[in-house]
Amino acid sequence: MSIKIKEWISRMPEYIPGKTIEEIKEQYNLDRVYKLASNENLYGPHPGVLEEICKNLDDIKYYPDSECREIRQKLAEKYNVDRDTIIMGNGTDQIIEMICDSFIGPGEGVVIADPTFLIYEKSVVKYGGAAVKVPLKDFRQDVEMLIGSINDKTKILFLTNPHNPTGTNINRREFDYVIENINKDVLLVVDEAYWEYVPERERINTIEYLSGCSNLMILRTFSKIFGLAGLRIGYGIADRSIISALNKVRIPFNVNSIAQKAAAAALDNESCINEIRENIDKERNRFYDILNKNGIGFIKSYANFILINTGKNSDEIVEELLKNGFIVRPGENLGIPGYIRVTIALPEINEKFLSVFIKIFNNLYKKEKV
Ligand SMILES: *Cc1c(COP(=O)(O)O)cnc(C)c1O
Repeated sequence: MSIKIKEWISRMPEYIPGKTIEEIKEQYNLDRVYKLASNENLYGPHPGVLEEICKNLDDIKYYPDSECREIRQKLAEKYNVDRDTIIMGNGTDQIIEMICDSFIGPGEGVVIADPTFLIYEKSVVKYGGAAVKVPLKDFRQDVEMLIGSINDKTKILFLTNPHNPTGTNINRREFDYVIENINKDVLLVVDEAYWEYVPERERINTIEYLSGCSNLMILRTFSKIFGLAGLRIGYGIADRSIISALNKVRIPFNVNSIAQKAAAAALDNESCINEIRENIDKERNRFYDILNKNGIGFIKSYANFILINTGKNSDEIVEELLKNGFIVRPGENLGIPGYIRVTIALPEINEKFLSVFIKIFNNLYKKEKV
C-alpha cells in the first residue's frame, strides 16, 4: 500500500523556475554568470533599505507583526485608501493563493489569458477549480474574449498589466471595457507587478477605480522595481469585505519582520524608482535598436524584460547563452516556443548580453557578414 496523494495534485501545472547562478557556474565552469531569467531589478534596493535591514536584525528573535501595521499604514497614506482595504502577502504569489482559497470551490473557475503568469492556474487547481484559458491576440490579452468567456461558474477574472511573459499592456480603453462589462459577482484581479515600470503618461491609475468597483482587486509587489524579490513581500488592495475574507484564510505571521521593515524603507526612498524606470526605458531602446539593426524580431515591452524571437534554433541559443554565462528564460517554459524572455539589466550587462546574443544568433542562422 502506498500513501494516497490528493487527486488534484496530478492536474497541477508545474512551475519551472529559472536556473540559479550557482548551478550554471558549476555546470559550465564559469566565474561570472548573469541571471536574466526572472525579471529582477539588478539595480537592487535603495541603500537606505539595506541600512534599515541591518538596523533591525536584532529583532528576528521575535515573531513579526502579523497585521503588518506600519507598511499597511504607509501604503494607505500613499494611495489615500483605508488601511483595512490592504492585505500583505509573502509575495503577491501568496495573495493569489489566498484569493483562490477564499473564492474558488470545486467545479468553479477563473478566466485567464493563455499564456500568462502560471501561479493563477496553479492556485485555482489547488482549490478544486479550473481555468478557462483565452489565447493572446498579437501577444496581448484579448479583453473582449476574456469577458466573453465568463460563465456562471466563473468567480474570478485575472488580468496582468503589463503582461508576463509578453510585456504587453492593457490600455485605458480596454481596461474601461472590462470594468463596464464584467458582472459585479465576478472578482476582477489586476496583477500590476510591473506597474511602476510603465511610463507615467501611459499608466492606468487603477486605485481610482476602487471606490466605484466593489469587485476590483489590485495586486502590486516589492519584488520588482523595488528590488526586494528575495524578501517576499507584496500587497493587494480591494473592498474591505474582500480583504476581511482573505485575512481569515491568511496564515499568521505570513510576512517576515525584515521584509516589513525593508518595504517601509523602500517607500520612504521611493523617488529612486523614477531613475530606475528611466534607465530601464533607455536600455529597452538599446535592445530595440540593436535587434532591429540585425533584423531580429521582438515584442515591444512595458516592463523590464523583453521577448525575443529566436525561431527554430531557440534551444540551441539558450544553451549557447548559458555557456557564455547568461541565464535567460526559454519560451518553451512560458508557453511561447521560439522565443526567449530576457530581463533588461544594467547597461554594461545588457551591452555584453546583446553582443554575445547577436553573435550566437547570426552564427546559427548563418547570416554573419563578411
Ligand atoms: C513577479 C510577478 C509577481 C510577483 O511575485 P511576488 O510573489 O510578489 O514576488 C506577480 N505577478 C506577476 C505577473 C509577476 O511577474
